[in-house]
This record gives sequence, structure tokens and C-alpha cells, in this order.
Amino acid sequence: MKLRVVVLGAGFGGLELSTILSEALAERLDLTLIDKNDSFVFGYSKLDVMFGRKPLDAVCLAYRNIVKPGVRFRQEAITAIDPEARRVTTDSGTYEADVLVVALGADYDLEATPGLTEGGNEFYSIAGAERLREVLPTFSKGRAIVGVTSTPFKCPPAPSEAALLLHDHLIARGVRDACEISLVMPFGVPIPPSPATSQGLLAAFAERGITFVPNRLVRALDPARRVATLDDGSEMPYDLFLGIPKHRVPDVVAASGMTEDGWIPVNSKNLKTRFPGVYAVGDVTSVGTPKAGVFSEGAARVVAASLIAELQGGEQPSAYAGAGSCYIEFGAERVGRVDVDFLSGPSPTGAFIEPSFALVDEKQHFGSSRRARWFRL
Ligand SMILES: Cc1cc2nc3c(=O)[nH]c(=O)nc-3n(C[C@H](O)[C@H](O)[C@H](O)COP(=O)(O)OP(=O)(O)OC[C@H]3O[C@@H](n4cnc5c(N)ncnc54)[C@H](O)[C@@H]3O)c2cc1C
Repeated sequence: MKLRVVVLGAGFGGLELSTILSEALAERLDLTLIDKNDSFVFGYSKLDVMFGRKPLDAVCLAYRNIVKPGVRFRQEAITAIDPEARRVTTDSGTYEADVLVVALGADYDLEATPGLTEGGNEFYSIAGAERLREVLPTFSKGRAIVGVTSTPFKCPPAPSEAALLLHDHLIARGVRDACEISLVMPFGVPIPPSPATSQGLLAAFAERGITFVPNRLVRALDPARRVATLDDGSEMPYDLFLGIPKHRVPDVVAASGMTEDGWIPVNSKNLKTRFPGVYAVGDVTSVGTPKAGVFSEGAARVVAASLIAELQGGEQPSAYAGAGSCYIEFGAERVGRVDVDFLSGPSPTGAFIEPSFALVDEKQHFGSSRRARWFRL
């Protein structure tokens, strides 16, 4: 008897889960991995695209390269999930599973921020990053705001990275002196679980003349007046707005009845939902870690280990620790790192590794090792 697994979403979580199960179970596995897209893009590649460091086709990893024993990839849009019956409907058919894993990530709700579509930009989607690649070279003087519009949002260091890379971009074009950069963040410091990383980022902002606006969200833009309104009612004029849009679960997840307060609740130790045989990993959950690929991947590893143990009669894995390393673009061609642990201790911790050229190579290896494992590229 083969284990019938249906994995919804081929992002960090879905790819890692499928890879581990295939390696461990091979012909005992009957896994269907479903995603509506034809390729995967690392979140951080959106920064490369928006700042013109890499063309889009260089950062797209085509799903047709997934060739793994026991795994079949289907490029289909998921239109309904029935978690009680573990049945999934797509635009092309229906799938039934012994084990269903929801790894559908987070979507964006641009309309939730009045004025964002008409008067601003966002760099969290591929389309938004591509548009910005055309817009940024036209910004040569005035006020730029990098602003978070809502919590939770993916990759908490990304707004800081965007501000630092924008500084470099403007320097390279010889227009930095004519521009101001502000960063509006909902936290008191850039990376709350890591005071040392926050200190490092705040020092980098100060050196570069980037204004950090703590404990605030951008609620709305008025494109006619070119003014951003913050959540305390104050206003900030802008000429260029780089936004982090409101996040939400994909519509099909909202319609499935699996969410509470907007996200799928899971047991944080084993990623089980309240539906037997149904797991959820990554950004689509409210597991208690930030929304980042390394956490989706870590959660997928726990689910995979648990399924393998069940099938082979081995020991169940230890509880999910919510730990991982995030690379942070500091500009000036350096990368820093924060090693965070959200769930294993009484409160989250984060160790800071200073920006260096060596960490540029390490980040590169992070990407290439996953390309090799997931896609054999
Ligand atoms: C600018 C930026 C920088 C980032 N930098 C980092 C970083 O340095 N390190 C890091 O760890 N994380 C980073 N992230 C965050 C990271 O990209 C996400 O947290 C991660 O991709 C989440 O993985 P996931 O598997 O939960 O979901 P995703 O990777 O989002 O995968 C979900 C998949 O589900 C598919 N899907 C959704 N709805 C449907 C449907 N109805 N039918 C079919 N398929 C569907 C999507 O197409 C998608 O492929 C960054 C994000 C951004 C935006």
C-alpha cells in the first residue's frame, strides 16, 4: 500500500516536504504536489529583480524540473479544499488523500490600503518587483518611503533590506543627495527578537541618513496630495512609496473553513490541524513564527519526519522549534545573518552575525543548495 499524500503549494514548505518524503519512501509514496504557477521564486529574489540585479528569468526555477520518485507535480489552480474528507478540487480534477498538507502561503490584499494601487508600489509580488525595476530609475529627487501597511508580513527584515538597497541604488545613480529615505515599521526596533541585529540595522540606517519611523503602520496613501497617512493619523509626504501590502490567506483557504482569525491554527509542536490527517505548514498558518521560507521549510521537515516515523514505526521527531537563519542584505555588497529561535525557549531569541562578504557566499549557497535538492539544477 502506498501512502497517498497531496501537498497544496510548491513553495518552501511544499518543496521541502516532497523532497524528504521522496528520498525516504520512494516507491512507497504516491505524492501529488499542486501549484498554480509554473515556477518557484525565492522571496529574496524579488529584491534582485526590483533593483535590476538579476532578470526575472534568471530567478525562476521551473517546476518541470521536479523529477522525484513517488512525486508528480501538477500545475493546477486549487479551487476547493474539503479538510473533513481530505478532498481537493482544482481547475482540472479532484484529488483524495490519506494525508493532506496545506502549504499555500500568504496572498496580498492591495485594496486594503486605500491609494496603494493608484499612488504607490509594492515589492512583495513578482509583478510588483518587476514594475519597480522600471520605476526606480525614474526616481531622482524627493522623498521615498518604505512602509509596512499591516501585520503579520513576510520576512520582517525585508523592509530594512529594501531601504538599504535603495540607498545603494541612489548612490550608484549619483542622486542620493537629492533624495530622502524613510522606513515605517510596526515594531519599536527593526528585528524585535534580536536586539543586536536591530542595533546593527539602526547603525546602518544612521550612517546612511535613513530615517527609521518605529511603531507605525501606513494606513492609506493620498495620490493626489502625495501624502501617506499613518495609523496615528500623522502624515508623511512622499514622491516614491515602496509598500509591504496587507497579507491574507489565499481565497481557497478562507473558503475551506480551516482558518481562525485569518490563518490556519496548528499544533505548534507537530503542525497538525484540527482535521485528522490534515497538516498545515508555513505562511498560511498562525504557528507563532514570523512568515519566512526558513520556517516553512523547518515545519515541513517535522511533518515529513513524523509521517516517515508513522509509516516505518520509528520514533516521532522532537517538537518543531521554529528556529532558522535569515540573511539580511545590508547594502555595500554585504550580507548579515540572524539566527532566530521562536518556539523552543520561554521567549524568542536572535543571535546576530555581522555583515560580511563571506555571508554573501553563504546566502548564495543557501539558494544553490535548495535549487539542487528540490530541482536538481
Ligand atoms: C521581498 C521578500 C524577501 C524575502 N526574503 C526571505 C529570506 O531572505 N529568507 C526567507 O526565509 N524568507 C524570505 N521571504 C519570505 C518567503 O518568501 C516566504 O515566507 C516563503 O515563500 C513562504 O513559504 P511557504 O511554503 O509557506 O509559501 P510560498 O512559498 O508562498 O508557497 C505557496 C505556494 O502556493 C501556491 N498557491 C497559492 N494559492 C494557490 C491556489 N489556489 N492553487 C494553486 N497553488 C496556489 C503559490 O503559487 C505558491 O507557490 C521573503 C519574502 C519577500 C516578499
